[in-house]
Amino acid sequence: MATRRCPDCGVTLEEMTMRTSDGFELHLVTDEPKKGILGSLGAKEKVKPTAYACPECGLVRQYVEE
Ligand SMILES: [Zn+2]
Repeated sequence: MATRRCPDCGVTLEEMTMRTSDGFELHLVTDEPKKGILGSLGAKEKVKPTAYACPECGLVRQYVEE
């Protein structure tokens, strides 16, 4: 897994788990096949993105990882 860095602070982002208050994990859902890294996703499939938070400024980013 690649190290993710904050685009503003340049520090390493910390991996987090993003859940709803009900404890469900968030998923991305596609309506049609996508290109690039998302090409591994077929139509109507869902993927769980990995969330990263910056310990300096609080920025949260989410990535689809293989
Ligand atoms: Zn930051």
